[in-house]
Amino acid sequence: MASLAAVGAKHVAKGVGRFTEMVMTEGKGSYIKTECGRTILDFTCGIGVTNLGHCHPGVTKQAQEQVGTLTHGQINLGYNKPQIQLIQKLLPVMPHESLDSFFFWNSGAEAVEASIKLARHATGKQNIIVVQGSYHGRTFGTMALTKSKTIYGAGYAPLMPGVFTTPYPYWHQLGLPHTTSNEELVENALYRLELLLKQETAPRDTAALIIEPVLGEGGYIPAPKGYLEGLRRICDENGILLIIDEVQTGFGRTGKYFAIEHWPEVRPDIMVIAKGIANGFPLSGIVSRKELMDKQPAGSQGGTYAANAVSCAAACAVQDAFKNEGVLENVEARSKEIFGLFNDLKADPVVGDTIAEVRGLGLMVGVEFKSPTDRYTPAQNKVPAKMASKVQNKCLEKDLLVLTTSVYETIRFIPPLNISKEDMAKACDIIRNAITEVVK
Ligand code: PMP
Repeated sequence: MASLAAVGAKHVAKGVGRFTEMVMTEGKGSYIKTECGRTILDFTCGIGVTNLGHCHPGVTKQAQEQVGTLTHGQINLGYNKPQIQLIQKLLPVMPHESLDSFFFWNSGAEAVEASIKLARHATGKQNIIVVQGSYHGRTFGTMALTKSKTIYGAGYAPLMPGVFTTPYPYWHQLGLPHTTSNEELVENALYRLELLLKQETAPRDTAALIIEPVLGEGGYIPAPKGYLEGLRRICDENGILLIIDEVQTGFGRTGKYFAIEHWPEVRPDIMVIAKGIANGFPLSGIVSRKELMDKQPAGSQGGTYAANAVSCAAACAVQDAFKNEGVLENVEARSKEIFGLFNDLKADPVVGDTIAEVRGLGLMVGVEFKSPTDRYTPAQNKVPAKMASKVQNKCLEKDLLVLTTSVYETIRFIPPLNISKEDMAKACDIIRNAITEVVK
């Protein structure tokens, strides 16, 4: 009989990119097990989803209870109880008190689309500004908004019209040397946006600007100080809504409940949430102020499975865990340890020169390596080509699962937010050895 992996290789669509052919069979805490008996430390959290570890006991219990109580309480018929309980738990943790009206969906991309629908309808305007390097999904609407890699949209045109791109304050995208100061990057990026509004999409036609506060698939780059504040100012001056995509950054990933709290002056008009909200159950949503949300006529937002009762119950347990289990405190402690590792490595005489930049917030950690073909990050010594995927493969050989990101040589580390000190130390050893072996 063919192995499960062989069946997968033959019958699972090739359009789904896969890093490995492993068949995952179990997940517990920070580890996953595979069909062929491997136990692997998971520093991906399924792309920032199982942030409280696999099969978190509280989440599992609440979801199991809900499965036997009410699985599908369809939202066009009424409310389901966990949906309302979830809103009650989310209201006190919203980054701004104006965010008081919720619409729940299934996936991040669907929620991003919902935010665009809301922005267009509420403003009566069409155009959307996105940031170069951003990722907002792979559905038909979001393909047009995703600017991290061409693979996500190439060959699928015509995409949604009315999308304009502005550069992110990141040296690669502004074509500036790696040593450029953050102030200069921010000034340049904001200037380019102001030009865009003068030359390509007039404010009177522009509904919204959407941005991730830490660029995720674009390279794990936190917005440098002054950038989001500048966007807020430009949006206010021009009657443009600011949509903050917290799909990957939300729910503790950056050390705050929502990443936008790192920029307290920046109030989102619409916030998009997903991934970590329910620790693995499909759930997403948008939050905005009621006055804006209520501009959409009843019936124009929604879907059969939206605000699924089991997902909402799981999400309630996630919010309880944040309240009761010291998750954010653990993020702070473990974050210091992993950034400590990379700061040591940067100073290391053998591998230090291969690292272009270490960046991130909390446990959203990115390391960009230099590349022999990169004009902006020249190295003194020889740097291996395709360094990020070489390190990724070495880590996997040593039973640590990590992800690369962006079109540059970048690895991202997304450990569970409640990872133990011991597991973090184990991972740090693996990462140090993997990088050293690739460089030697
Ligand atoms: N926005 C951001 C910032 C994301 O990181 C992602 C997923 N990586 C999405 C939107 C799309 O979410 P989903 O894959 O659930 O559609």
